[in-house]
Amino acid sequence: MEVLVIGAGLAGVSSAWYLSQAGCKVTVIERQPGPGLETSYANGGQISVSHPEPWANPGAPATVLRWLGRKDAPLLFRPRADAAQWRWALAFLRECLPGRTARNTAAIAHLADYSRDQLRALRAATGIEYEAGTGGILHLFMDAEDFAHAPAKLQILQELGIRAQLLDPDQAVALEPALATMHSRLLGVLHGIDDECGNAHLFCRALASNATEAGVRFLFNTRVESFEVRGQTISGLRIKDADGRTGMLHADAYVLAAGSYSPLLARPLGERLPIYPVKGYSITAPIIDPSRAPRLSLTDEARRVVCSRLGNFLRVAGTAELNGYNLEADPARSAGIVKWLDEHLPGVADASRAEHWCGLRPTTPGNVPLIGPSRVGRLFFNTGHGTLGWTLACGSGQAVADIVTGRPPEPDFPFLRPR
Ligand SMILES: Cc1cc2nc3c(=O)[nH]c(=O)nc-3n(C[C@H](O)[C@H](O)[C@H](O)COP(=O)(O)OP(=O)(O)OC[C@H]3O[C@@H](n4cnc5c(N)ncnc54)[C@H](O)[C@@H]3O)c2cc1C
Repeated sequence: MEVLVIGAGLAGVSSAWYLSQAGCKVTVIERQPGPGLETSYANGGQISVSHPEPWANPGAPATVLRWLGRKDAPLLFRPRADAAQWRWALAFLRECLPGRTARNTAAIAHLADYSRDQLRALRAATGIEYEAGTGGILHLFMDAEDFAHAPAKLQILQELGIRAQLLDPDQAVALEPALATMHSRLLGVLHGIDDECGNAHLFCRALASNATEAGVRFLFNTRVESFEVRGQTISGLRIKDADGRTGMLHADAYVLAAGSYSPLLARPLGERLPIYPVKGYSITAPIIDPSRAPRLSLTDEARRVVCSRLGNFLRVAGTAELNGYNLEADPARSAGIVKWLDEHLPGVADASRAEHWCGLRPTTPGNVPLIGPSRVGRLFFNTGHGTLGWTLACGSGQAVADIVTGRPPEPDFPFLRPR
């Protein structure tokens, strides 16, 4: 079976790998000169199974209102004359209903748990290196209102079979001495025991290189212009290379993994994908005092900031901004991340030499990705992974490979069904 995969981010490279392992002849088409150069380039680095709760939860509307008008708000809605943005915002509000949040949380948790196991199996089988860190994620509570919800969060995780524990500040510092500088501010810490972290861009590059050795072909600097349709079935892809040469590619199946750009490619086919680009920022700063740098990945629950040690660097990421496909960096937004680093881990990394970055999370209203067949024949989706595309990459890649090759996917997850 020949398969064309569109996009070489986390979703596309993982799809290509698992499809080739399933015996498919795979070609990946990517407009950038290499893998993982868009949203998968400099994310927070977390494999965060212990954070399945989506942004859309019963507390979200009040939180968003509280942050309204603040330039450094963790979640910023910049209203535009854009019907897709307003449709998405309304759908987001619907997903804040308690029943929907519970359903979305469970779906994400099942896929995330499976995905982390797939990642571990892949690491064991291939020896792939991507600055992986194990030992868990520490969710830091420094706000009394947030901390009041910590026991309920722990209970939900336990009910979902995710190993986690609540630590007091002394226990947390004993586990992660780098937290000593925050001890007086900490109210408690939730430890996601089996979580991990790692460099998503290195992972994309390393997995693409393993996939190439396994026979996968990558066409970089090549843009998919559109799908060619015959009847109700995809019959080919129109592509254009960097020199402006156009061509057609044909296959037995097509996997759309173009991140935030998936809805733009799917729209002419009559598919209105509920994915909106949600911009986030990161800085990657060289560590100057390794003895005080955290070994475990951190999440500041109140500020919605994450921090992961990746080799000799600290990656600090956060903020969410609904502002269309605009990739301009707003200095006020990354300044908030620099401030977090200076205030919480002073003297550990040199923010003045940091690489600044922003990317567009391909986000569905409930943060549940779209995986499975489209309503058009031969076309499959593996897209819309929002805040958790690194956490969900391997599980989604394996699942879409199963679906394309006619096997039932393993996790208990609302995969798309043929319509
Ligand atoms: C600040 C920030 C922090 C984050 N932190 C975390 C985290 O800690 N943990 C976690 O799990 N997730 C995190 N995420 C989310 C995660 O990074 C994304 O969900 C993930 O990268 C999405 O991967 P993707 O492959 O779907 O999209 P992308 O990485 O954007 O890949 C899509 C690819 O498709 C290509 N493409 C698009 N259109 C075309 C076309 N027409 N022709 C050819 N190629 C095309 C693009 O060039 C791109 O390479 C974070 C995101 C951000 C922004």
